[in-house]
Amino acid sequence: KNVGRTAVISNKQVYSYDNLLTAAESITTELAKKLRNPSQLKGATAASAPDKPPRVGLYADPGPEYLAATWAVWQAGGIVVPLATSHPPPELSYVCQDAGVSAVLTLPDQESRLGPIARQHGAALQLLEPLTGSSASSASGNGSVSGTGNGSGRGRDAEADEAAAAAILGELRDVGASDTRGALIIYTSGTTGKPKGVLHTHRSLHAQVHSLASSWHWRPSDRLLHCLPLHHIHGIVNALYCPAAVGASVEFMPKFSPGTVWQRLQSGDISVFMGVPTMYSYLLSAYEGAASEPERQSQMREAARALRLTVSGSSACPVPIMNRWRELSGDFLLERYGMTEIGMALSNPYEGERRPGSVGTPLPGVEARIAADGQLLIRGPPVFAEYWGRPGATREAFDAEGFFLTGDTASTSGSPPYFSIEGRTSVDIIKSSGYKISALQIESVIMEHPAISEVAVLGVPDETFGEVVTALVAAKQPQPQPQPQTSQTSQTSQTATGADAAERAVAVAARPEVGELQRFCRERLAAYQVPKRWQWVSALPRNAMGKVNKKELLRMLQAGEL
Ligand code: ATP
Ligand code: MG
Repeated sequence: KNVGRTAVISNKQVYSYDNLLTAAESITTELAKKLRNPSQLKGATAASAPDKPPRVGLYADPGPEYLAATWAVWQAGGIVVPLATSHPPPELSYVCQDAGVSAVLTLPDQESRLGPIARQHGAALQLLEPLTGSSASSASGNGSVSGTGNGSGRGRDAEADEAAAAAILGELRDVGASDTRGALIIYTSGTTGKPKGVLHTHRSLHAQVHSLASSWHWRPSDRLLHCLPLHHIHGIVNALYCPAAVGASVEFMPKFSPGTVWQRLQSGDISVFMGVPTMYSYLLSAYEGAASEPERQSQMREAARALRLTVSGSSACPVPIMNRWRELSGDFLLERYGMTEIGMALSNPYEGERRPGSVGTPLPGVEARIAADGQLLIRGPPVFAEYWGRPGATREAFDAEGFFLTGDTASTSGSPPYFSIEGRTSVDIIKSSGYKISALQIESVIMEHPAISEVAVLGVPDETFGEVVTALVAAKQPQPQPQPQTSQTSQTSQTATGADAAERAVAVAARPEVGELQRFCRERLAAYQVPKRWQWVSALPRNAMGKVNKKELLRMLQAGEL
């Protein structure tokens, strides 16, 4: 049904769904031969679960080949294992070993990086032929990719578009809905420990895609600007499989850069954008100080005009970012909550009230419950099948009624109840002087301070208080000026680094005194929530999803490495 439509725009080239399907067929033919040939499967890793469908690593920069290769692996009866191009060899090796990949697909110019790892694990290497697209001069301009059938959201009959989406979803309803074969192993972000392989079946992926496509009104005319890594559920399921399921287009931007994102948004071609909270923070910073407030507002509104859906997730979006986005663009970010294990479970509504600081209500088919200890429990068709190779961990992850234990603490308010995530039970729920304190709530307040660009709040073990609320803060400055140390602060010698530092460090505010930060918190929080200890850092260490590993941060703090 998507014949003739644009599937992918990459490097100013346009690739239609037919291009990709033809490519997938030839990849399948070669891959099926490799998977059938036992001599290719002699690797120790592949032998680790010979009764399961073969696992096929996919190591490729974002582009049309990624989608074609995914379909090919499924067609050949395999399980796709996305490998992160940003990961160093030992981490790639860990995933290849843990998943027991018997074949790896990669692009010719990436072979030198992956080849040695594939050989080390006895996996067959198959090169993906780079696809040739057609020139996308129109793809960067007027919003309709000529000759490919897609129009932009503008100028098209929205009702016809919705009807086309509904028809596609209707057909999708049965495809894969009962297929319990393994389809995808995604590794968790590794925020709390070693990443775990999460096995999704065609059925659980189908449930995720179907629920998001209908709840967020995906339609064939959509074009999503894609700057997320493809080895996490956010980038691969929400931002790639969903548009592909309804015949929409994905424009890849391999490296997130706030300036280029604004440029593309201002073109009016992009109708959907998905990001992690730090991306929105950088996008806003790129505007701060760049123009007067009215100019800023009108530029932002212009950029956001064609955007019908702007999603934030993967970690909590601080309320000040949400509010500032709304102030400038006139629209709320849509915040949702999900995990590798459950896909998306809770979401603010597409239509209806979006509440800053809340992740909304359960998506269709999802049952959400809060246990007596505050832990959020989730049950439903999008939930994963098992932790790959970890039957013990899989058993421990579910309660007697089959609810998945998320490890996150949540609360609800209002009617219908909207859920709020208070944080990870293990690191964000601080127990101090008999109180249970949400680190995320304090972080949100500190982020309101005009001089602060980043914050992480930790509970540091302490004999008197149990844990002491401690805030690690970074100031909105490219190169912090040294300040005299006080008894409760210490200076870091690091300076802001990174290609985007200059771009985002536009609003220069002086680093405030700790007393001033404490006063600021006292006006907005209960006394027991106000951090007792403060530590300046130039930037917080974050993983590929912009997440902070708080256990590691605590270790660094205690070891004096910050
Ligand atoms: P690991 O399981 O390896 O420690 P991880 O839990 O960070 O890593 P993911 O599955 O990518 O790996 O992330 C899921 C987690 O992200 C959730 O458990 C939750 O803590 C957090 N999260 C996602 N979306 C939100 C949100 N909107 N608000 C708050 N937290 C969120
Ligand atoms: Mg997790």
